[in-house]
Amino acid sequence: MRILFLGTAGGRRVTFKQMRASGGFLVESGPWRVHVDPGPGALVRLIQCGIDPGTVEAILLTHRHLDHSGDVNTLVEARTMGGWTKGGSLFAPKDALEGEDPVVFRYHRKNLDRVEVITPGWEVTWNGLVFRAVWPHLHHGVETYGLIIEGEGMRVGYVADGRQEDGLGELYKGVDLLIVNTTFRRPRDMDHLSVEDAVHILAQARPRLAIITHFSMEMMGKVVMESASYLEERTGVETLPARDFMEIVLHRHGNEVFIEEATVELVHPLGLGGEV
Ligand SMILES: [Zn+2]
Ligand SMILES: [Zn+2]
Repeated sequence: MRILFLGTAGGRRVTFKQMRASGGFLVESGPWRVHVDPGPGALVRLIQCGIDPGTVEAILLTHRHLDHSGDVNTLVEARTMGGWTKGGSLFAPKDALEGEDPVVFRYHRKNLDRVEVITPGWEVTWNGLVFRAVWPHLHHGVETYGLIIEGEGMRVGYVADGRQEDGLGELYKGVDLLIVNTTFRRPRDMDHLSVEDAVHILAQARPRLAIITHFSMEMMGKVVMESASYLEERTGVETLPARDFMEIVLHRHGNEVFIEEATVELVHPLGLGGEV
């Protein structure tokens, strides 16, 4: 299984000035590609990596905020070529799909094979992978779910945006890799996680490897590396800060999971694809 980070931006300034990319991340298992939280620029980031956006067969949204969904319509259109090649799946919370102000246009949805609402306890098997919604996070009154993605005998957890709550980390116990949206360095009374909150989450979840991402201005420069080292010291869990275009490859051999990390070489650095 491979995880490819197409963005690591969290706060408004970091996202809208593109100080870091904001395209979410891609999960690849065998021939299948799943795009999680395709924020602004996701299409271009795929092209930069030489990945044909038409080959992304599923999209998962943790919540409707623009930094997680900005390119969702673009990717649905790219997968279906505006309706010429119908197919693909979309999984998202109800308030991203319904109500007065859905973030996925109804017009595009009819070209997909499968559109499903994520609810508390939601679990679905999709082409040999299992997607599971972790109990809703508290996040500005917007329906927000953490995720566990299971495949090839491995589990990847994604602690999406939200407020630290007692026992949050317990929900991600047993994952091999845990991606944590660690937006702030210092704890604050907000519906976002800080490094200090991540200490509690990692101490409870105890993954084989943790990756912090979704960084605000507070988490720029050397602070990200210092924060990862601090998390390792406090929890004993190996922790890496995400980088744009970082890839994580997970293999299982017997009882052990091996994890390798690298940076992908950009095939089209300008994001202008031609043949991909
Ligand atoms: Zn966010
Ligand atoms: Zn959010």
